[in-house]
Amino acid sequence: MNILILGSGGREHALAWAVLQNPKCDRLIVAPGNAGIAEIAECAALDILDGAAVTDWACEESIDFVIVGPEAPLAAGVADALSAAGIAVLGPSAAAARLEASKAFTKEICAAVGAPTAAYARFDALEPALAYIADHALPIVVKADGLAAGKGVTVAETREGAEAALRALFAESGAEVVIEAFLTGEEASFFCLVDGETVLPLGTAQDHKRIGEGDTGPNTGGMGAYSPAPVMTAEVKRRALDEIVRPTMAEMVRRGTPFRGVLFVGLMIDEGAPSLVEYNVRFGDPECQCLMMRLGGQALDLLLACAEGRLGEAQVRWAEDHAMCVVMAARGYPGAYAKGGVIGGLDSLPCDSRRMAFHAGTARVDGQVVAVGGRVLGLTARGATLAEARDAAYALADGIDWADGVMRRDIGWRALG
Ligand code: ATP
Repeated sequence: MNILILGSGGREHALAWAVLQNPKCDRLIVAPGNAGIAEIAECAALDILDGAAVTDWACEESIDFVIVGPEAPLAAGVADALSAAGIAVLGPSAAAARLEASKAFTKEICAAVGAPTAAYARFDALEPALAYIADHALPIVVKADGLAAGKGVTVAETREGAEAALRALFAESGAEVVIEAFLTGEEASFFCLVDGETVLPLGTAQDHKRIGEGDTGPNTGGMGAYSPAPVMTAEVKRRALDEIVRPTMAEMVRRGTPFRGVLFVGLMIDEGAPSLVEYNVRFGDPECQCLMMRLGGQALDLLLACAEGRLGEAQVRWAEDHAMCVVMAARGYPGAYAKGGVIGGLDSLPCDSRRMAFHAGTARVDGQVVAVGGRVLGLTARGATLAEARDAAYALADGIDWADGVMRRDIGWRALG
């Protein structure tokens, strides 16, 4: 079968790597891809936000299955365009992608079915929002309603901080803002495949959002992850499915906008009780690198079953193992960062079914791999224990020779103690 993956990050490199291990894959194209992806698959320069262009191209190239990596094409309706042309696609319709594209929408769905999530209020003007924070306990969480690549959220410890966040958001005309109560507990990500009402729990992971060790400094797209997440016990998963995921997915069906695709369930777990922090409508990056390394070739069968509405008969075969991904970023990230530095050492790294250097912001210039983005590499390894996976991932990282590269040395600290 001919497969097209949309995206250019470490997530898409990991998806490509796993898909290629499945003999069903005859031809793999990634658009637009990166230097690492170009070593294992064809790359195509497509505007992945343009549903008509992607669909025309997919028809011309006889693509059988499209995997959409990031959220922006989904919110833009790329899956709708592909489905209308009869092409199997992993990723929800634009209507169902609102679960990520509008925080207020997800809150409303949770309220409709009584799913546990932080108490909230929604505002489209500054004054009532200011009055609300004056009246509510600290810390308090201020969020832009729409997609903001993780940069639209402020967890404010003081009223001044909350007010500044509100003023910044309402400086844009037409702003919609959600204000939430602060949830305490430990955060984890729970990945499910959903095909309408059938939910197949896939796996769990924990991310590290902050740039600095000990979870300090500004938020990033994610500096490392591991899977599974020990806090996601069988009982927490059961409760998350029964109290949050299944009722909200049933509500989407009831509203005539069934969700089909990867559901990233961002949870806060407090004394064994899960609350929903957010839904995303695609795999997380770097959590996906860990999941793909643990799933290998079966990932394609599962993703295809999801796209074709056959999840009822699908089964996940997990090995009793662990994976960790350590992200190397360009010095300065998530602020202004160095670009163009040559990354050495990649050719000497081992790469096999247990160890991979997944590329994100890389390009090949004059035969050399150079850094062109903020997050650049995801050194990912599997092990019988999390400590073994960590040691192997950091051994890969230590083999990289890149003057501008920075990473956290404490990925997994929570689980490793
Ligand atoms: P991303 O997709 O990058 O995770 P986002 O912009 O979609 O971010 P959220 O996931 O809603 O936004 O919030 C980002 C982070 O802020 C969460 O991962 C969590 O750490 C923190 N956060 C959000 N809401 C709350 C809350 N109600 N209580 C405590 N922390 C919260």
